[in-house]
Amino acid sequence: MPMSQSFKERLFPIAEQLVEHYGTPFHIYDEVGIRETGENLKQVFSAIEGFREYYAVKALPNPRILALMQDMGFGFDCSSTAEVLMSRQVGARGEDIMFTSNNTDQAEFNMAAEAGGCVLNLDDISLIDKVPVFPELICFRYNPGPRRTGNVIIGNPVEAKYGLSHDQVVDAYRKAQERGAKRFGLHTMVASNELDYSYMVETARMVLEICELVEQELGIQFEFVNIGGGFGIPYQPGQQPLDIQTMAAEIAELFDAFRAKHNYVPRMYMESGRFMTGPHGCLLTSAINKKETYRNYIGVDSCMSALMRPAMYGAYHHVDVVGKDTLPKDQVYDVVGSLCENNDKFAVQRDLPKIEEGDIIVIHDTGAHGHAMGFQYNARLRPKELLLRADGSVELIRREEVLDDYFATLNFSENNFQPNQ
Ligand SMILES: *Cc1c(COP(=O)(O)O)cnc(C)c1O
Repeated sequence: MPMSQSFKERLFPIAEQLVEHYGTPFHIYDEVGIRETGENLKQVFSAIEGFREYYAVKALPNPRILALMQDMGFGFDCSSTAEVLMSRQVGARGEDIMFTSNNTDQAEFNMAAEAGGCVLNLDDISLIDKVPVFPELICFRYNPGPRRTGNVIIGNPVEAKYGLSHDQVVDAYRKAQERGAKRFGLHTMVASNELDYSYMVETARMVLEICELVEQELGIQFEFVNIGGGFGIPYQPGQQPLDIQTMAAEIAELFDAFRAKHNYVPRMYMESGRFMTGPHGCLLTSAINKKETYRNYIGVDSCMSALMRPAMYGAYHHVDVVGKDTLPKDQVYDVVGSLCENNDKFAVQRDLPKIEEGDIIVIHDTGAHGHAMGFQYNARLRPKELLLRADGSVELIRREEVLDDYFATLNFSENNFQPNQ
């Protein structure tokens, strides 16, 4: 199931009021659903000592959402300066923040060391010498290359720009020791939107094997392993959700076996984004035009600036029409935005009930990598974001962009630099 029945039952009856009050389009997120998913995650992984989720901030970077994560005891996985600053703004400090940057520059290293720092998760061996003040605790991102075949979205690890190669991993920790590191973590991320739980179990097995290898070579005992994000959600009706119960049980067995053999065991971290918030958000947009040419089109008042996934990956997002749940889906529509790109379509050749202008269209599963991936091409601006709170009230957690925001970076008078000739 896409969007939960519970979210639907709380949202759809108030949809018209929200549209009247806020106007469309907007993303709306479900506090109840996010908390349930978070608590469930903690519960199923409670067999693994020191389990912690580091919410991948890029999935839904909003302080009000991060505050929910903080409240559940989660840390934050960040990969840019702004993400770290936002995490600190909600109170995260030091080891609450993993900084998993890629192609990191000096300014980011300096920022990472400020305000109580964060856990540096280095993406390459060449970066060891570029860290200005080397921390006591260091983590590296491992890329297994040909040892794993990647999943569909993230691709083949050999082609992935992330992480250390297998041959570099021991040298990396040795160099880090030489620079004074005393505490160590190991990170990987080899999947995206993976629905097969056993892939994650294999990832846990893989990182534990690397721990064993590095311990043999350097005597290092790892404080934590981080198996990354990439936990999938069912976007399509009929898809089976990820079986985290079985996953957690099998991973717990691996950790128990590791402890029996090595007399210690690292803590386990993960950094899910999509799994935590993806199903707990949707985009509400109004049908404003109907067009019948070679196909039948429903034009809505938002576009790919609000949700890139269909255009970028051909991703399926389920579509509902408020109040028309019980009507037969006897029409075939392309649901489109107004951007001048032909891939600006939320749904292609989709069976839907008959839609009229003014109908409220609900695009499911926009709670992760939705608004966050938006852009301003064609000067199409990004919509507002709302939070449906547990008490039934609705909070505006980000306003929509307005033309002044768009024009703010432009110069309407000359601003010149004359290089010496
Ligand atoms: C994007 C990202 C995540 C989150 O991925 P999901 O598919 O949303 O779980 C986690 N870790 C890193 C390093 C990422 O880049």
